[in-house]
Amino acid sequence: MFDYDVVIIGGGPAGLTAGLYASRARLNTVLFEGMMMGGQTASTEMVENYPGFTEPLAGSSMGPLFEAQAKKFGLEVRQFQQATRIIPKNPGFEIILSPDGQVSAKTVIVATGTQWATLGIPGEQEMKGAGVSYCATCDGAFYRDLDIAVIGGGNAAIEESLFLTRFARKVYIIHRRDALRAEKIIQERAFANEKIEFVLNHVPLRIVGDSEVKGVEIKQVKTGEERLLAVSGVFIYVGMRGKSELLEGLTSMDDRGFIPAGEDTITDCPGLFAAGDIRQKPLRQIVTAVADGAVAAVQAEKFIEANF
Ligand code: NAP
Repeated sequence: MFDYDVVIIGGGPAGLTAGLYASRARLNTVLFEGMMMGGQTASTEMVENYPGFTEPLAGSSMGPLFEAQAKKFGLEVRQFQQATRIIPKNPGFEIILSPDGQVSAKTVIVATGTQWATLGIPGEQEMKGAGVSYCATCDGAFYRDLDIAVIGGGNAAIEESLFLTRFARKVYIIHRRDALRAEKIIQERAFANEKIEFVLNHVPLRIVGDSEVKGVEIKQVKTGEERLLAVSGVFIYVGMRGKSELLEGLTSMDDRGFIPAGEDTITDCPGLFAAGDIRQKPLRQIVTAVADGAVAAVQAEKFIEANF
C-alpha cells in the first residue's frame, strides 16, 4: 500500500545516519537530497572534532562515506531530487518531488538542516555573488592578496576567517561584542594569525559598492562613531536559520525556523520526525546530528510497529 516505510529528506549527517539505522532495521527506506551529499560538511574544509579520527578529515569526504555505508545496508538514495511538499494522509504521507514524481510513506524524517542567516543591511542582497558571500570554501580563492571582512564571532566566522587567510592579504573580523562566541581553541588560532585584525564592538551598517564590493560601513557600538572599512569582499557568518519551509503548516517551529522536537525527534505531527540541525538544540555539530539521525530511525520503527 505504501511505497516506503520511511522517507528521509536531507542528505547531511543526520539524514544519512537515519538511513543507515532505518536500513539496518530492515525498513524500506529512501533518502532524497536536492544538492550535495553531506550537507554542511560538503563545504567545510576540515573536520577535526569527529571522535575517533586523530587526523583532520576533509569535510567533503564525509557525505560520500556516510552514504556508502548506509547504501551497504540497503538505503536507496535519490540525489538531485527534492521534496517540495509533505501531505499527511492519516495514515502515512504523500511526498511531492521536484522536478517530478511523488511517493507515499508510513513515516517521514526531516533532516533538511540550516541555511545561513542574513544581516538585512543595505547592499547585502544587491551584491550577493559580487563580493558578498556566505561560503568561504566556495569563494575564498577569488580574494587572493585582497583585503576582506568577515562578520560574526561564532565558530563559523572564526574558522572561515582562518581559512580565508590562505588567500587574502588581510581579514578583518567585525564582531558586535568584545568577546567571541567561538570555541577557545579556534579563538587562539585566530589571535595568533598575523593576517587577522579584530574589529570588536562594531556592527556593519551598509555594504558599499555598485557592481562589486568596495567596503563596509561600520559603527562602534559604544561611541556611535561610524567609518568605512575598504574591503573587496564581505563574508557573513551571523548564525543559522532552520531550512523548514517544507514543514510550514505541518508542525510548529520557532521564529528562526527551528522545530521544537525533543531529543526523541518527535514533532507534533504524528509519524513526522525532525533530526539534526533543523531541531531546536543547544549544540549543532556533526556528532549531535548523527545522534539525532539514529534516534529518529528508531522512533520511526516504533511508530510503524504501533500504527501499521
Ligand atoms: P553562532 O554560533 O550562532 O554565531 C553567530 C555569530 O554572529 C555570533 O557571534 C553573533 O554575535 C553574531 N551575530 C548574530 N546576529 C548578528 C547581527 N545581526 N549582526 C552582527 N553579528 C551578529 O553561529 P555560527 O558561527 O554560524 O555557527 C552555527 C552553528 O554551526 C553553531 O552551532 C556552530 O557551533 C556550528 N559550527 C559551524 C562551523 C562552520 O560552519 N565552520 C564550524 C563548527 C561549528 P553574538 O556572539 O554577540 O551573539
